[in-house]
Amino acid sequence: MELFDSHCHLADPRLYADLEGVLARSRASGVGFIVSVGALGSVEADRLTVAIAERCDRVFAAIAVHPHDAGACDAARIGELRRLAACPKVVAIGETGLDFHYLKAPQEVQESALRAHLALAAELGLPLVVHCRKAERRLAEIVGETGLPGRGAVAHCFTGDGAAARALLGLGFHLSFSGIVTFRDAAPVRESLKLVPADRLLIETDAPYLAPHPLRGRRNEPSYLRHTLEAAAAVRGIEPGRLAAQTRENALRFFGLPA
Ligand SMILES: [Zn+2]
Ligand SMILES: [Zn+2]
Repeated sequence: MELFDSHCHLADPRLYADLEGVLARSRASGVGFIVSVGALGSVEADRLTVAIAERCDRVFAAIAVHPHDAGACDAARIGELRRLAACPKVVAIGETGLDFHYLKAPQEVQESALRAHLALAAELGLPLVVHCRKAERRLAEIVGETGLPGRGAVAHCFTGDGAAARALLGLGFHLSFSGIVTFRDAAPVRESLKLVPADRLLIETDAPYLAPHPLRGRRNEPSYLRHTLEAAAAVRGIEPGRLAAQTRENALRFFGLPA
């Protein structure tokens, strides 16, 4: 069984400090592919994310300005992302999006950064990784106007209810689920997980955040993805091996990687 961790942050100091150990445990646990997402508050994090992908086999990069830092998303920063995306191991633009839960940047600033990333992904022919917290309706409105980039988009760490899942699926989104599906208080997320067509489903750790039960509260890492896989397979009533194969195949196709 081979797993694909579609979203984690290897440049975060909590993982980068022990990168060799993190990657060794990840391989030993069956994680064959990783997309590491920069978007950690500075362009240096994006540069480091690309450098990690360049030197590590089967590790790929996504780069963007996180919605928390949307105020820093000016033309110069978009230009820097465009230059970094010339590296063939950059397989997506992200994570961008809307976070109305923390609201660390004003709503209109987040929306304008989202639009800039939608345009950049379309221009570069890359898929888009979208972060959305308590903003699914507004996300659907904006994408309803602009359309998705040609290569599509994934709503990562999906936490919306069934209505939000249906709305984003209707716009063509893939949905990716994290360790939250293992949390006792996440019944609405599990309801959403049941609705996703088999060919539009991804799984992720979002490490170092959101360690799955029974490791909740610890620093997360890609080797913990198996807990999320097993919980998600139980929710969908299929064998973990089958869900691993489906989500691996979906992620390879979505990120444009050879099987
Ligand atoms: Zn996120
Ligand atoms: Zn993330």
